[in-house]
Amino acid sequence: MKPQLISGIHHVTAMADDAQKNLDFYTGILGLRMVKKTINFDAPDVYHFYYGNETGSPGTIMTFFPFAGMAKGRHGKGQMTVTSFSVPAESLDYWLARLKKFNITHTGPQQRFDDEMFISLYDAHGLGLELVFNKTDMRPGFTYGQIPLEYSVKGFHGAVLSEDNSDRTAKLLLESMDHKLIAEKGNLKRFSASGVPGDFIDVLNTPEAARGLGGSGTIHHLAFATADDTSQLEIREKLLSKGHQVTEVLDRQYFHSIYFREPGGVLFEVATNPPGFAIDEHPSKLGEALKLPQWYESMRDKIESALVPVELKPEKFS
Ligand code: ZN
Repeated sequence: MKPQLISGIHHVTAMADDAQKNLDFYTGILGLRMVKKTINFDAPDVYHFYYGNETGSPGTIMTFFPFAGMAKGRHGKGQMTVTSFSVPAESLDYWLARLKKFNITHTGPQQRFDDEMFISLYDAHGLGLELVFNKTDMRPGFTYGQIPLEYSVKGFHGAVLSEDNSDRTAKLLLESMDHKLIAEKGNLKRFSASGVPGDFIDVLNTPEAARGLGGSGTIHHLAFATADDTSQLEIREKLLSKGHQVTEVLDRQYFHSIYFREPGGVLFEVATNPPGFAIDEHPSKLGEALKLPQWYESMRDKIESALVPVELKPEKFS
């Protein structure tokens, strides 16, 4: 059998408004680690925050472009509408109490695919999230103090794509991206490259919905993981041969990336697992200093003075 070119989810990137509120939510409320503080390489006056587990492993990385005053987007079809995080099955009461304590808008618990329990919630800028209570996620949790380890987030559970015609997206995932159909109920189909929590792509057929609009509180793109530069070039050729418009390989410092739009309009990326976040700072110091790629280093003073200062204080959310 040919080795898979796509192994699962690498990261999710979204848009936010106020940078401090974004940072407080993901490090404070959800208890993720800030693994990199950098800038949007295409717009250096905007931060790029990366959150994840201890090392920022693929499958745990949520990233944001926070930009104060950005207009709110609209959730709808042609968009990735939900990012779901995996938490232990026995943490339901803990999370319900925690979301209530910090006044986080949420609904549920509700059930999906027979026995999957989840809570829906919104982040500080209206981004759709879920906490999924998993019995089968074997990954260790990670904690930085404010959340007990036995209740902490393990990484992504998966993503929900809302589509005008889910068959087209399904065809792409099945025929060109190494995914398999692993569950189906009503207008929802679940695909996965690995078959385990962290890599579930739920495709929702919602032709009746309005189209989504980009802006604060919406997903910018969904990135899939590939082993290395060689497998990335292979998947690029494969996608090109199927008629997809794929970009050249771009150097994102912590991984290498290609981008294309899936047939329903969601921006997909395929990112390499290496080199990772320890390439420019010590693993124990991840996220503490503003990191710039080499080609921006000479403009550091100007770039730093244009950014709003932020403070990393997750312990305020104990
Ligand atoms: Zn990306």
